[in-house]
Amino acid sequence: MRGFVYSAHPVRVVFGSGTVAQVREEVARLGGKRVLLLSGPSVRDAAQPVRDALGPLLAAEFDGAAMHTPVEVTGQALEVLAEHEADCLVAIGGGSTTGLAKALAVRTDLPQVILPTTYAGSEVTPVLGETDNGRKTTRSSPAILPETVIYDVDLTLGLPVAVSVTSGVNAMAHAVEALYAPQANPIVDGMALDAITRIARSLPALVDDPSDVDARADLLQAAWLAGTCLATVGMGLHHKLCHTLGGSFDLPHAETHTVILPHVMAYNAPAATEVMTRIAAALGTTDAPSGVHDLVVRCGGPTSLRELGMSLDDVPHAAELATAKPYPNPRELTREGIEDLLRQAWHGTRPG
Ligand code: NAD
Repeated sequence: MRGFVYSAHPVRVVFGSGTVAQVREEVARLGGKRVLLLSGPSVRDAAQPVRDALGPLLAAEFDGAAMHTPVEVTGQALEVLAEHEADCLVAIGGGSTTGLAKALAVRTDLPQVILPTTYAGSEVTPVLGETDNGRKTTRSSPAILPETVIYDVDLTLGLPVAVSVTSGVNAMAHAVEALYAPQANPIVDGMALDAITRIARSLPALVDDPSDVDARADLLQAAWLAGTCLATVGMGLHHKLCHTLGGSFDLPHAETHTVILPHVMAYNAPAATEVMTRIAAALGTTDAPSGVHDLVVRCGGPTSLRELGMSLDDVPHAAELATAKPYPNPRELTREGIEDLLRQAWHGTRPG
């Protein structure tokens, strides 16, 4: 028997099609009267239904959200917020826009309503990663956790297929690592396995037809479940390695997760055999690491660090950084082992 401690994060979730229409009601529920609407360059148009639904509650807009939440962008948004005396934050976009909302909330204690358009899952976590002078730091606090998340599948229909695939695998990575986390528990296990099944069946369907609303809804629900896993238990080697590759080698977030996941699974498999069997069953395959690799290939996603622009010469340094401090992981972390993993990932070798 394995004991556990379970603690949930209180987020109100509104899920469906056309749910953007409820944003005004949800803002009012939080006592908001003057909204600052946050977005990024590629969701400016997708934000129109949010503007329409907010009506007179919309006080100001800031559409400069950027990857990795640079503090200078947060500073600019804070000025807009103060100038318009906003009392509530509404954000539409991916993890980058959610990051900006969280950065503002932790500085002002204003409530947040998030409308996600990717599958990163940040909207349900109390974690914020910020960059200052190129240095990324991460912190966690209840003030960072958004109060309300409105998932509207209609807002995700325009997300390009390539981004949908890598973002979907990013969500799968949260679910995979939750299953072998030291804090693993029955609720998180159930959410993680359901998320994996939904991602495995919805990604090929939406690659074949990006306007397939049922596939998009399946994937969006998986994003919520996987994000909740990420918020509830600790992550292992995969997230550590992706954090290192993103932070120190400037590799793109979701693409890096997509390339690395099958290789970390293959590395951890000998020390997590039961978990890998459950993941394989959820994927509808017999071997979990190669099953994820095959899914990525089927969906046209990236499979090698080489195609993401990383140099093979950087592998030893990356392995050194990723093993500098110990952290929980099913299999012991050795520098040689991680170097070998990264070499396989650089070449894009099929695991198994
Ligand atoms: P992102 O928000 O940068 O979005 C990815 C790309 O998709 C961007 O180019 C964006 O403009 C585009 N996009 C988003 N929605 C679109 C739409 N509807 N139509 C067209 N294009 C659209 O990236 P992401 O992968 O969602 O999030 C990554 C960021 O989130 C990273 O900074 C990562 O560290 C952070 N993150 C944080 C947590 C957490 O718990 N703190 C969890 C996951 C990710």
